This record gives sequence, C-alpha cells and structure tokens, in this order.
Amino acid sequence: MPNIIALDFETANERRDSACAVGLAWIADGAVVRRESRLIRPPELRFSPGNIRVHGIVPADVRTQPLFPEVMAEFLPDLAGGLVLAHNAGFDMGVLRASLQAHGLRPPAFSYLCTLQIARRVFPAEEGCGLGKVAARLGIRFEHHDAGEDAYACAEIALAAMRQTGAPDILGLSRAIRLPVTVVPEGPDRAPRPRAFADRPRAESASLRFAVKGRRGDRYDVVLEDRATGLRLRCTCMAGRYGTRCRHVAALLDGDITDLLSGNHDDVERLRLRMVAGA
Ligand SMILES: [Zn+2]
Repeated sequence: MPNIIALDFETANERRDSACAVGLAWIADGAVVRRESRLIRPPELRFSPGNIRVHGIVPADVRTQPLFPEVMAEFLPDLAGGLVLAHNAGFDMGVLRASLQAHGLRPPAFSYLCTLQIARRVFPAEEGCGLGKVAARLGIRFEHHDAGEDAYACAEIALAAMRQTGAPDILGLSRAIRLPVTVVPEGPDRAPRPRAFADRPRAESASLRFAVKGRRGDRYDVVLEDRATGLRLRCTCMAGRYGTRCRHVAALLDGDITDLLSGNHDDVERLRLRMVAGA
C-alpha cells in the first residue's frame, strides 16, 4: 500500500500560492497514526480579511516561519508516490501545485481522492457534505479551520466511509464506491521558473516610494533615499521624522504589506533585495 496522507492547506489570500498553514494526517491499518501541522510564511505577507476570518492566522503569526519549500521538505518524500486525501481536493491540490511552481520545485507523482466526493456518496445529507457538517454527523471531534485538525477530520471521514462500506482499505473504498483516484504525474524535469520578483527589470536608480496606512488610518509616505552614506528609508510619520526606525519601515523591510496603500507589492520585494544587497 502507498502512504495514505490526508492533507489540508490554509491560504493567506485569494492566490493559490499563498499557503500559510499545512496539516497532515497519516493513515495506516485503519487508523490515524500520525498528525502534523506547520505554519508557513507565504511569499507575500498579504492576508485577506475573509481568509483571516476563516483560519484566524495573521501576518504576525507567520512572519518568522519558514517558507513553503522548507516546510514541505519534511513531508514531500512521504507524499511522493502516496495516496493523498483532501476535503474538496481541487482546492488543496491547487495550492500544492501553485506553491511548488512558485518556488520552482518539481511536483512529485502521487494520486489523490477527494473526501467531499466520498462523503457525498457514502454519507449524503440534505445539509450537504462540508467538512464541519460531515464530521458533526459522524461524531468526529475537531477544531474546524485549523489545518492539522482539518486534515485529521478528513482522514477520519475516509476511515468512516471504509467501515460503512466494508472496504478493506482506501483503494478498496475507491473501487466500492466507483470513485477512481486521480493520478498526478511527476512534474517536468525542468521546473518552471520561480515567481522571482528580482528577475523583473528594475530601474536601480529609481527611488522607491510607498504609501502606508498608520494605526489610526492616516497615510504616511516611505521613501528610499540613495545617499552618499548608503541607502536610507525615510518615513513621514512622527517617529520617522525624528529619525528613528518606525513600524512602517520595519513592516516594509519585513515584507509585511498588510498596510500598504500604494499597491506596489513588487517594489517591496525590490526594496528588500536592495537593502540586503546594500547591507
Ligand atoms: Zn513611519
């Protein structure tokens, strides 16, 4: 039998490559035998209010967390050649694919089954088969919208479906309910180019300028100045005018664009690259 792993991602915003948390639950011998969850620092620290409402993760939670490749390095060998379960798998498979691609990583070969489809066949109900609904009907206790907990509930739904149909294992369940696994071939040998902001043409001499929203909603401007003494970021807020490093400058250097009003997200990455190069 292949590794059988339930997988769940949470994302920071509408982009599929903005994973900010991952949860995994391993199934063996008819039971969940291992559970893991990790926070992920997405490529840009832009969190949509709607996404925060769902999972409660905010930029400060992931600012110092490792990026997707570092987090997933621990788990990709298990996923490779494995059978992955996900509830509404189209979403989680999309996140996995987009994130691997964004970081120039080669997607492993694996197959997957959607537990939403499984639940619709085995545990249909008027109220629908959302993860929370099915779990409640089956008496699975979990903390909805925590990636680790969601992966666990997903695994338990598959196990309950196995028991319900008398299937000996997940592949047997797939046959019993005529829901074939989807096979994902290994990605191309040459991984597509990562979404690297630094690759884009940039005017080195052009000064970078950002508009940011202050704590009380007022607008400040942060400007990068190229001085004889080196690069310097100047902010128009009170602290900035006194020459101290304010939270607006600190946020930009952190890649935190939550309060960025000017919309030039790419410039934030350029700024960070230039500051690193100049340091
Ligand atoms: Zn400031």
